[in-house]
Amino acid sequence: MEHQLFLYNTLSRKKENFIPLHSPLVGMYVCGPTVYGEPHLGHARPTITFDLLFRYLQFCGYKVRYVRNITDVGHLENDADEGEDKIAKKARLEALEPMEIAQFYTNSYHEAMEKLNTLPPSIEPRASGHIFEQLEMIEQIFERGFAYEINGSVYFDVEKYSQKFHYGKLSGRVLDELFANTRELEGQREKRNSFDFALWKKAKPEHIMRWNSKWSEGFPGWHLECSAMSKKYLGEVFDIHGGGMDLIFPHHECEIAQSQAAFGQEAVKCWVHNNLITINGQKMGKSLGNFITLSQLFTGQHSLLEKSYSPMNIRFFILQAHYRNPLDFSNSALQAAEKAYQRLMSAISILEKLPVSEKTSIDVENLRKNCFEALNDDLNTPILFSHLFEGVRFINSVNAGTESIAKNDLETLKKLFNEIVFDILGLQNEVSDSQNSEILDSVMNLLLNLRIELKKEKNFTLADKIRNELSQFGIEVKDKKDGFEWNLKK
Ligand code: ZN
Repeated sequence: MEHQLFLYNTLSRKKENFIPLHSPLVGMYVCGPTVYGEPHLGHARPTITFDLLFRYLQFCGYKVRYVRNITDVGHLENDADEGEDKIAKKARLEALEPMEIAQFYTNSYHEAMEKLNTLPPSIEPRASGHIFEQLEMIEQIFERGFAYEINGSVYFDVEKYSQKFHYGKLSGRVLDELFANTRELEGQREKRNSFDFALWKKAKPEHIMRWNSKWSEGFPGWHLECSAMSKKYLGEVFDIHGGGMDLIFPHHECEIAQSQAAFGQEAVKCWVHNNLITINGQKMGKSLGNFITLSQLFTGQHSLLEKSYSPMNIRFFILQAHYRNPLDFSNSALQAAEKAYQRLMSAISILEKLPVSEKTSIDVENLRKNCFEALNDDLNTPILFSHLFEGVRFINSVNAGTESIAKNDLETLKKLFNEIVFDILGLQNEVSDSQNSEILDSVMNLLLNLRIELKKEKNFTLADKIRNELSQFGIEVKDKKDGFEWNLKK
């Protein structure tokens, strides 16, 4: 492979040269959303981060099987082992079926992510569709002696596990401290230790989502779905597991323990975690009134927003920060990102009509090398952007006549910008899209007004010809009493 990618592995705490287990195939699992509410800024960052990784791995020539789950069962309030299921609660409040809630918010999530131009994963499994696989895994953990049953619920025996394996290796948590710090919540008396976690929970009478098992009628613990589904689609051992930093503990720590206990080996070669988004320096939360959904951002409908921000503005804003660094949302930061994004897009438009000379006044090959070095260094997008903007300054100078570029270097530069900006960073040119649609509007008005003149002169043959030929381009014209209406056919 020409591109030697280094990725920071949360488990080893260092950057490692990425070599897939079965090159050119790469297995990547990313924890997807729990679908009980509108997608928000907190969803955009992991999805965009792993979209960048997905795109870059494909660009490097790998064939990636990207699995991102939908959590539609078992994720309880406060991420705890007791309490109401997040989706069932929403269903109860809105008097809907839990699966209606899950479907509705899965659709909203897809719509928002499509606007952000993230590619769909190769497989998107649902937890509720994999109860059998989860029960099978509990059975395996049980057989190896790392689980126990109490009152129809099954728990993972963390103390027993940690006699043989290192529980806490991913998060750096120490069991004794965990023991001292875990509060005794109601219902935890059932567990042998407060740090044990549920694999299967017996459903209380009021619990709606429930399945039969040999232990009880109940539902799986939240951490289990990802272990069971990654094993099903990527095998017992796979290349990359991703998610937000907030999932390191307990979710991913528990996943490591479950796979080790069930299969006798660790499942994941490289753990990749994106950092979180804060809003004006604060953690985002409904109680703080700073909870902003993506559709509010796109429309500007939120008291904290000075204006609306386009999907590409948000994508650019997220990508300009390194995925492992915190990112603080504010109106000024988003507006600065918007200006930079527009400067980049306008340089790309200029690139198409740049005059060529005999000589090039910068080293284009070196620029290309620097861009890919930044990407290979754990997807270092801030450094990548600094090189891209060197390119932007150069393009503007050539356009102004103070620098020059030869024909073959211009082709290299165009290719570089296309590959990096559109294929790898996944940005789209909204600026030229909106300019194009303005131009299309004016041309259509001109043409259809001429057609009205033709009809007044009773030249119906030509008027019909215009309408029919437009229809072939996918434009539908309707005659109205006072003029016309046109639409792009879907
Ligand atoms: Zn997960």
